[in-house]
Amino acid sequence: MNLTHRETEALDALCDTFVPSLAFEKDEDPALFSMSASDLGVSARVAQALDMIEPAKSKAFHFFLRLLGNPLFMASVSRSASPFSRLSQLQRERVLQRLARSAVPQLRSAYQGARSLVMLHTYAANGTPESDALLSAVGYEPQLNPRSTAPHVPIWKMGDELKVNCDVCVVGSGAAGSVVAAELAASGQDVIVVEAGGVWSAGEFDQHELVGMHQLFREGGLSATRDLGMSLLAGASLGGGTTVNWQSCFRTPDDVREEWADVSSCSFFTADSFTECLDSVWRRIAASTEESEINENNNAICRGAQALGYRWSVIAATHSGVMSPNAVTVCSGAESAGNRARRRLICWMRFVPVPG
Ligand SMILES: Cc1cc2nc3c(=O)[nH]c(=O)nc-3n(C[C@H](O)[C@H](O)[C@H](O)COP(=O)(O)OP(=O)(O)OC[C@H]3O[C@@H](n4cnc5c(N)ncnc54)[C@H](O)[C@@H]3O)c2cc1C
Repeated sequence: MNLTHRETEALDALCDTFVPSLAFEKDEDPALFSMSASDLGVSARVAQALDMIEPAKSKAFHFFLRLLGNPLFMASVSRSASPFSRLSQLQRERVLQRLARSAVPQLRSAYQGARSLVMLHTYAANGTPESDALLSAVGYEPQLNPRSTAPHVPIWKMGDELKVNCDVCVVGSGAAGSVVAAELAASGQDVIVVEAGGVWSAGEFDQHELVGMHQLFREGGLSATRDLGMSLLAGASLGGGTTVNWQSCFRTPDDVREEWADVSSCSFFTADSFTECLDSVWRRIAASTEESEINENNNAICRGAQALGYRWSVIAATHSGVMSPNAVTVCSGAESAGNRARRRLICWMRFVPVPG
């Protein structure tokens, strides 16, 4: 949905209110302070992102932009009936502060949504000399991945008319779907996994946050609770959340299993067979503490915990050295944007058997 001229004016002003050009001291990096949202081209990126989010949220945001040009609305949130874009920086800041604290939940949500959109597209973007200068000023130096050498599983792009015969169709290739598909396939069923998201591998990640979020996350990384008060990150490409997650592995604690059994009246959650399922997944994804290094930051937390008498332990993670005999796996670094980890094992890749 294209922005009208008035909506664009309101959005430009909104972006520059959150990210104005600021004076900087001698020892401060000019790139960090002097570039405003306009210098960084934030408004155009936010406008593009509106096509990625749920249509209802996008529509609500358009409405909010129109409100910022409405004299009656502006008179109710500022001392002037002038459009938001005609106010001074200080007046615009006051309007935003008023919206953030408004008694009307929809206005607080509009503020939250606007702030998230603008800040994400300011600090996570790359590709223009200005945004690259900003990334470099915050010390972000992306390192490219080697190309993936893992064997490919057969993937078809579904058209409207595709007809496929199978015993079972699993919807979603994330942590749950991949395990279910692999188990069913191992038991002799003909299984198809349907995945709504795209297919990406190591060499296709350019290590830039915004590109990665758009490729790998639901709603391009802009999902949020209905009131927009809290961001919701959910993976939405082949592998689902396992493509983007941090690989930390926790066995479901006994008290949680008891609660599940209690709430669902399903005794399976506390049965030995459930423990065997956990063991099996644990082995298959090669979860261990072998590659969990305690770095300086972690060490400080450990020392603090020790001093306070708190219990701590090293978190297990999927590790790269082990391959299940009949699983496709990505060993040399299918890595999500953001350079979070050197190696990333994608559950779907591990669980779906190698064809032929
Ligand atoms: C950034 C991040 C870090 C995380 N870190 C950890 C961690 O360190 N340790 C940990 O244990 N957990 C972590 N998690 C959580 C973990 O990844 C999720 O709990 C897990 O992936 C959920 O599995 P799932 O199968 O339910 O859903 P998902 O893995 O989200 O998979 C659902 C898949 O279904 C697809 N889909 C949805 N609807 C449809 C449809 N209609 N048709 C076709 N496909 C569809 C989606 O595109 C998606 O690929 C993290 C999550 C995130 C986002």
